[in-house]
Amino acid sequence: MKIETKCLHEGYAPKNGEPRVMPIVQSTTYVYDSTDDVAAVFDDPTKSLIYSRFENPTTDCVEKKIAALEGGAAAMCTSSGQAASLLSILNICEAGDSFIASASIYGGTINLFGVTLKRMGIECIWVEHDATEEQLNAAFKPNTKAVFGETLANPALTVLDIEMWAKAAHAHGVPLIIDNTFATPILCRPIEWGADIVVHSTSKYMDGHAVQVGGVIVDSGKFDWTNGKFPCMTEPDESYHGIVYTEKYAFAPYIVKARMQLMRDFGCYPAANSSFLLNLGLETLAVRMKQYCENALKVAKYIQDTGKVEFVTYPALEGIKGHELAKKYLPNGTSGVISFSIKGGRSVAVKFMDSLKLASNEVHVADIRTCVLHPASATHRQLTDEQLVAAGIDGGLIRLSVGLENVGDILDDLKQAFANI
Ligand SMILES: *Cc1c(COP(=O)(O)O)cnc(C)c1O
Repeated sequence: MKIETKCLHEGYAPKNGEPRVMPIVQSTTYVYDSTDDVAAVFDDPTKSLIYSRFENPTTDCVEKKIAALEGGAAAMCTSSGQAASLLSILNICEAGDSFIASASIYGGTINLFGVTLKRMGIECIWVEHDATEEQLNAAFKPNTKAVFGETLANPALTVLDIEMWAKAAHAHGVPLIIDNTFATPILCRPIEWGADIVVHSTSKYMDGHAVQVGGVIVDSGKFDWTNGKFPCMTEPDESYHGIVYTEKYAFAPYIVKARMQLMRDFGCYPAANSSFLLNLGLETLAVRMKQYCENALKVAKYIQDTGKVEFVTYPALEGIKGHELAKKYLPNGTSGVISFSIKGGRSVAVKFMDSLKLASNEVHVADIRTCVLHPASATHRQLTDEQLVAAGIDGGLIRLSVGLENVGDILDDLKQAFANI
């Protein structure tokens, strides 16, 4: 199946007389005929359902669909993108370990990695997203267990050289985890470029309609965990009656461990209702992404020509930093998100945003409706000036998420707001 078809048909194939659409299974639990049957479920929890804190039939269909879209072996949904990023690291790092992350990533992730994980004894080593292979290699320590980056960073829109980052990670025997939220598997499939684990905030384009917060982790099933660095994968898990994940679940040991251990203990699983809505978003993901890219390219060209901005960042535009990488990793477009810095800095940016009529001022991105955000005073306000610069953000920076309205209406709105500053 081609990807447009996968969006509609992966994950659920009704049999004779069954519902066309995967129903919402609104049940916390599942009934078995005997105590022995329940015991058998615990012996191999991947075969049947136990409890909706870590698996549910509606969510299961969505997980299978997303795994297929990303070209992975298995996936696990989470109650938010933050939970996905958190579990993606905790699944292989413990107190005393470190991991490398690109400094150009989502503000919430910077805080999670730099503050909260640090409190838990896990060190994040920050590396510039455009580091050379040499610089990247030099950042590894003996206790480094993973490498993390964003395909298309929120909000800086830097493009990561995934293939090079994967090479460096693999040279040190650790997996590359990629947050593919902005690109979605429609525009880029990081596993095809060597990534081992993919995470998403499904709250963005995957849901697309701004109706529910969620996340997902996808396991490529390709990383070799048996190189001696990951006893948590290769030695018996005493908290799960001695299971050795790489032996019993060789097809996707990382995701099975994340579910049976971390999801069991942290319980950040989405509700069936949310997964049902997420599936509706996924069904149209391919057509929506195409239109977002088409609208945003026109809008980015217009903004670039106004003469009222210091710069526009939209990697699909010729002559923009990151354009060469975008041509390689995102040949069909770079999503609906554009960032630009207004001449005059913070106060002019705020005036411009407050002048918009169609585009709404909201803490969201990748909505079906056009929206804007001022990162320095919203998502990234907890960062220091130094971190802001590292994340590619200044006071005049505006993140514009171009929606699916008629592009003429979006342009008219921008024109009147530019006229107002
Ligand atoms: C929004 C976002 C997150 C966090 O996701 P939530 O669903 O809001 O928890 C993580 N990564 C990226 C790139 C995001 O845009």
